[in-house]
Order: sequence, then structure tokens, then C-alpha cells
Amino acid sequence: MNYLLEGLLNLIFPPREECPLCGGNSPGSAICLDCSCWLAAVQKEQYCYTCGRPIGKGSLCNDCLERQWPFTLCRAVGPYSGPLKEAVHRLKYQGKQQLATPLGRLMAQQVVNEMVYRSVDMVVPIPMAPSKLRRRAFNQAHLLAVEVAKAIDRPLNEVLQKKTDTVPQANLTRQQREKNLQQAFFLVDNVNIHQRKILLIDDVITTGSTLSAAADVLRQGGASAVLALTLAATPRTK
Ligand SMILES: [Zn+2]
Ligand SMILES: [Zn+2]
Repeated sequence: MNYLLEGLLNLIFPPREECPLCGGNSPGSAICLDCSCWLAAVQKEQYCYTCGRPIGKGSLCNDCLERQWPFTLCRAVGPYSGPLKEAVHRLKYQGKQQLATPLGRLMAQQVVNEMVYRSVDMVVPIPMAPSKLRRRAFNQAHLLAVEVAKAIDRPLNEVLQKKTDTVPQANLTRQQREKNLQQAFFLVDNVNIHQRKILLIDDVITTGSTLSAAADVLRQGGASAVLALTLAATPRTK
């Protein structure tokens, strides 16, 4: 939209001040009290030390006991449920791109206190295939990565690209899906990630296949380590 027109419309119809998580009325568009309480409560729950997904008890989920990921670890703001799930939906499917700012800041807060994240050299978003990008008009992982990069003062680098999916992912086994995804991601030319420590950003970790495939490509391209960060983490099923 034309900026002048947008500015004029904002004057006539000021945007509602809403909580970035639940979308309820909230002065200054801060996270509302209900959502703050919810976040504080869920953040006390048990998460897998490696993949950051919610687990009932213990320190590692079964996936992380069984396998080695190409990323060192992943962290999320909280579980993919309640107001965090609503926030992802409003950002992704209702096109509320302005939510990326407060949500990205929440993600950055999540990692500033973790020593391991302090040495990252650059922030890289999980890319979206061009056909999907044309349909949706924006890549939510990119929007979140922009905010995280700003908040932790590291460059954003779109070194990863994705080819258009040729095979639907739905009925594939995890191994097939990872292989498929790995072939879909590629590194852009003329970019040096040799010995770089990368912070990889996505909106949600579900099976971990996407982050795993992307991290694999980054490691093959010479990255010394890949640390992942997502807005939300789906509890492991099975
Ligand atoms: Zn709220
Ligand atoms: Zn795990």
C-alpha cells in the first residue's frame, strides 16, 4: 500500500492496540497480563535440553536420545499451544506482519541469557519456496529473523534458499521427508559461511525435519555450528 495512504488511514482509523499473543485489547500493544502469566507458567515446564520441545519429564526427548541433529540445540519461547499458537496463526495466516516485531523480540529475549548463543556470527531464516512466497507474500521466518538480528545486533544473512516442493510432504516417513527437504535447500552463491556460527530461525519446530535439513546444508557449506531458535515448539508426538 502507498505509505501516504497508509499513514492517512492510520490517522482516521488508528490501529487497535492489541496484545501480540492473544490479540485482546492491550494498552501500548504490550503482552497482556493473562498472556504474561501463561508464558511464565509454561516456561517453567519441562523442555528437551537439545531440541527444546516440551516433554513431560526428563531432560531429553526420545528423538534426541536416539539421534544426533546437525544443529547444536534449539530453543523456543514456549509450546505451540494457547496464545502462542494464536500468535503464530495471526502472523502466518491472517497476514499480521507487524506482529513479527514483538514476537521476534520475545525470541531474542529467550536466547540472550544463554551463553551458547552469544558467539553466533549471523542470523539465517528458514527460506520459503518462491511459489509459496508468491502466494503468501511474506515469509514469517524471515520477518522474525529480521527482528532477532536487530535485537542481538548480528547481521541477517539469507544464505539459504528453497526450491519449489515437488513432492507433497504429508505421507512421507521422517527419513524420506528429511531427504526431500535436504534436496530442496541450497546455499546462495558467493557467500562464505566457512567456520561461521549460525543462528537459524523458524516459526515453529514440529518434527525437527525442516531445521535438521537446513542445518545439514549449512554445515555442509562449512558452518562450524548451527543453533536454532523458534517462536513455538510442538510437543513431540508418539
Ligand atoms: Zn494476551
Ligand atoms: Zn529433543
